[in-house]
Amino acid sequence: MNYRHAYHAGNFADVVKHAVLARIIEYLKRKDKPFRVIDTHAGTGLYDLSSEEAQKTGEWRGGVGRLMDAELPKEARKLLAPYLDAVRVLNPDDSLRLYPGSPTLVRQLLRSRDRLTAVELHPADASLLKARFAGDFQVRVIELDGWLALGAQLPPKEKRGLVLIDPPFEEPGEFDRIVERLRKAHRRWPGGIYAVWYPIKEIGAVKGFHDALREAGIPRITDFSILIRSPSSEPTLDGCGMLVVNPPFPLADEMRTVMPALARCLGERGSGSWHVEEIAGEAVPSN
Ligand code: SAM
Repeated sequence: MNYRHAYHAGNFADVVKHAVLARIIEYLKRKDKPFRVIDTHAGTGLYDLSSEEAQKTGEWRGGVGRLMDAELPKEARKLLAPYLDAVRVLNPDDSLRLYPGSPTLVRQLLRSRDRLTAVELHPADASLLKARFAGDFQVRVIELDGWLALGAQLPPKEKRGLVLIDPPFEEPGEFDRIVERLRKAHRRWPGGIYAVWYPIKEIGAVKGFHDALREAGIPRITDFSILIRSPSSEPTLDGCGMLVVNPPFPLADEMRTVMPALARCLGERGSGSWHVEEIAGEAVPSN
């Protein structure tokens, strides 16, 4: 486990992931019924952008750094407001020093009846996360393999909610593992929303991932992706995607408003592009 999110927090990939995440939670809040968010690869929950790690890569400057300075179209700004406000609350003096990881962003958006289960395997990150949410009865932090949690925690007792799957992609075969685990999780809880973050480093691998998902037989999957530069032959992070199973009905339209603004803001030298694609449609009823 070499991956440390502190080097990458707030980069363009976090922005895309957290923008989609916040819209899904806002949708879940439209109904009174409580919901649960299960974050299978949670990280430490909060990142100091002035830390040695964040300063070493400077990745946040091309992500949340640009976003907070950008002139966004009105409709996009409105849809991004819950996410942008969650960043602003942490940085009240207009500076940008703290960035919310997914558990902190989710926690800020929950109502008093909603719950978060945050799972993190790295012992140091898990203990930071536990300390961060100590005494918060709405949040449960579990030090565990997130893939195991998918089996153990589903379905949640609320029977409504979201599973965020955000693995570090440091081991080979991560795309295959996602398809296999997602299929099993979906069998345990077909009604849950699942949001899976993935990197775009090599277009062929992403195409194979989408094809495998189509073959997995999981209905209702939409993919939201952004490229910050034209795909290169080098294995660099040219973009990323969020794949959403059972997407809330307004999500695709909302993202068609948000993503052009994000692509313009995050793309390198004006070469950002975005894509919304239905990977799988409604289930075909069997006789
Ligand atoms: N979701 C976080 C966010 O948006 O702020 C970022 C998560 S980071 C991309 C991936 C995290 O997964 C790292 O903190 C890493 O320690 C953790 N991790 C790696 N393997 C894991 C596993 N098998 N189960 C749970 N967490 C794992």
